[in-house]
Amino acid sequence: MDRRITESINSCVKCGICRSVCPVFKEEKAEPFVARGHITLLGELIKGSIDFDEKESKDYLYKCLLCTTCVEACPNDSPTDMIVEFARNRVIEKHGLPLYKRIMARVMKNRQLMDFAYKSAGYLSGFLFNEKKEASRAGAALKVNTPYLSKNELLPPVTNKKTFIEKYKGKGRAKVALFPGCLINYAYTEIGDALVKILKKLKISFIVPQNQLCCGAPIYASGNLKDAEYLAKKNIEIFEALDVEYILVLEPTCASFMVHEYERLFVWLEDKQWEKRAAKIAKKIVDPVKFLYEHTDLAKMIKKLDIKTTYHDPCHLKRTQKISNEPRFFIDKASNFTDMKEADRCCGNAGTFSVDYPELSKKIASHKVKNIVDAEAEYLVTGCSACMMQLSGALHRDGRDGIKTIHTIELIYKALGD
Ligand code: SF4
Ligand code: SF4
Repeated sequence: MDRRITESINSCVKCGICRSVCPVFKEEKAEPFVARGHITLLGELIKGSIDFDEKESKDYLYKCLLCTTCVEACPNDSPTDMIVEFARNRVIEKHGLPLYKRIMARVMKNRQLMDFAYKSAGYLSGFLFNEKKEASRAGAALKVNTPYLSKNELLPPVTNKKTFIEKYKGKGRAKVALFPGCLINYAYTEIGDALVKILKKLKISFIVPQNQLCCGAPIYASGNLKDAEYLAKKNIEIFEALDVEYILVLEPTCASFMVHEYERLFVWLEDKQWEKRAAKIAKKIVDPVKFLYEHTDLAKMIKKLDIKTTYHDPCHLKRTQKISNEPRFFIDKASNFTDMKEADRCCGNAGTFSVDYPELSKKIASHKVKNIVDAEAEYLVTGCSACMMQLSGALHRDGRDGIKTIHTIELIYKALGD
């Protein structure tokens, strides 16, 4: 394993191009927070000349969004995201995971526990959260300080209503299976509902596997390869048992993780059998907007709405899945669309990054607000519910609640005129 990591480390020629594109480096302006610095640090970590037992030192590896902007820009294709994930694994193997990440992994491995945790938070929402701002989809503000999140931090909306998976029971043969991802399953079920209505209108049969689990991306990103491996294997087994042509994965991070990282994980674990199984399943996984674009006549049914829109490219849709034209095609058909500057600049959410480094995450998000405003849009459209939540928060903090956020699938459904 170390030989392959050494090769990856050696692929970096220290040219520094990554410094000009990294959103974290733009804020921190220090070498340890950019791809070149991460690669150097991992080399030293492997040699044993440094050890990451102090918070400040760990920050060098955890202050990375895994946005892959540097991977895209690197002339030598240095796989920084993989190097950072591997280095994080080295750190937690020696020093363990923070308590909240251990609890998170335990809960995410068990659907019933996850449902229970989320619904319990829903029942307690009156005590935990201030009233949700109707104009913002950023979530609800915490009323109390917690060990990891301060008062007034925004969290995804919690309710005790049915989850997306619970709403659509059914089994048997279908053209597509739906994998909503945790945020849409629990917090933004309306995005999944919009996709269901579109599929019904197109008479495309679907099922929602009831036993699906979290894809494991947040756990993998923390360096916890063991629990990520457990979730990858479980989901692959669940998908293999389905009698469907396609698996539509609504969250770009989940889709990207399942299509690329499942296989890469088993390559690192030198597990040939699971590597092949992951590669086979990856061929069935598709982003829903790309599916609608390539396999349906939906475009003919869309009527242009009298609204002005702009679009944010989620990192794990544009960079890792190479999907950027398909959403723009539909958005342009459905509305008066203007592309904003730096549409693919990372929003700074990156899952637990926004919990570990809330102020830095907000600073990165704030850079997008000017470009959204300059596009003179009434609606900011995006294809990832985490980006939607993050940018709603940024707009809200800037007093721009007048600019609404909407998921690409919701906009398409709206333009069907139902
Ligand atoms: S752009 Fe690539 S080769 Fe150049 S310093 Fe960054 S990681 Fe290394
Ligand atoms: S993945 Fe993103 S945040 Fe991490 S080093 Fe590369 S550009 Fe910077």
